[in-house]
Amino acid sequence: MKQLVVLSGKGGTGKTSVAAAFAHLAHVDGRGHRAVIADADVDAANLGLLLSPRVRERELFKGGSVAFIDPQSCTACGECAQACRFDAILPPSVSPPSGRSSGLYQVDPIACDGCAACVYRCPTNAITMQEQVAGEWYRSETSFGPLFHATLKPGQENSGKLVTLVKQRARLLAMDEGYDLVLVDGPPGIGCPVISAVSGASLALIVAEPTRSGVHDMSRVLKTVDHFGVRAMVCVNKADIYPEGAEAIVAFCRERNLVMAGRLPFDAVVTEAMVRGEPVTTYRPDARIAAALRMLWQHVVAALWEQAS
Ligand code: SF4
Ligand code: SF4
Repeated sequence: MKQLVVLSGKGGTGKTSVAAAFAHLAHVDGRGHRAVIADADVDAANLGLLLSPRVRERELFKGGSVAFIDPQSCTACGECAQACRFDAILPPSVSPPSGRSSGLYQVDPIACDGCAACVYRCPTNAITMQEQVAGEWYRSETSFGPLFHATLKPGQENSGKLVTLVKQRARLLAMDEGYDLVLVDGPPGIGCPVISAVSGASLALIVAEPTRSGVHDMSRVLKTVDHFGVRAMVCVNKADIYPEGAEAIVAFCRERNLVMAGRLPFDAVVTEAMVRGEPVTTYRPDARIAAALRMLWQHVVAALWEQAS
C-alpha cells in the first residue's frame, strides 16, 4: 500500500484542489488503484467541501488535559500558582468569568498548558488533570471512496496528534479492505501537523506557486520532507500568471535533482468548481486545467508504482 501526501509551503497554493482532483482520478484510474482519502489539514479542513462527504461514523477527539482544582480539598495555600509557569492559576481575587472574588484558586483552562506541575506541588492533592474534548474525527463516504477527516475546536492544540489519528484510521481501513493508496491532503507550512502528515509517506507532492516567496516557501517544506527521507516531486500551480516565478521554481528543482511533475495553468474554472463543491476534473473535464491535472496524476502514479524504489 502506498501513501501519497500533497503538501505546500503555505496556504492558498491550490493544494486541496489538486488533492480533490486526485481523489477523483484515482477512483476512475482504470488500473485497479483504489484510494482511501484523508484530510490531514485538520486546522482548516476543507477537502470535504469538494467531495461532499456523507458522515458514517464520528468520534470525539480528546486532545490534552487541563488542571482542575477541587474546591473541597483546596486550602488556598497558593503553592500551585507559584509552580505554574503559564500563569494559569488565578488567585482568589481574579476569579473568572465574573471578575468577583470566589475565595478560591481557579485554573484558567485557556492558559493551562497541561504540564501537571501544580498537581505535584499541591500538598492536599486537590488538583487533578482532566481530559478535554478538542474536536471530532469522521469516517465518511464520498463518490470517490472513503474519506477520513476531522474538525478541531477553536484554540485547541494537538493538531499533530489528530492528523496521526486521521491517517491511522485511513491506513487501517485501506489495509482491511484492500485499498492500495492512502491519499493525504496535508496541512500547509512546516509545523507539527505537517510532520505527522509526512511520516510514513511513500511520496510527497509539493504544490508550489510562482510568487516572489514561492521558492522559499517550497524549500522550507522540502527540508521537512527530506528530514523524514520521503521522496518528493514538485508541481507549479498557476504557472502562467508569473512565468519568471515559475522558472525560478523549475531552476531550483533542476539544481537539486528534484522531479518537476507538472505545471498547472491558471484557470478560473477551478474557482467555479469550488463554488459548486466538486473537483475541477468532474466539473469541467474538458478544461485545460483538468487535462493538466490528469497528466500530473499520470506522473504521480508512475512515481508511486512503476518507478518505485
Ligand atoms: S496548591 Fe492545592 S491547596 Fe494550595 S491553593 Fe493550590 S490547589 Fe489549593
Ligand atoms: S497543569 Fe501546568 S499549566 Fe496547567 S495550571 Fe497546572 S502548572 Fe499551570
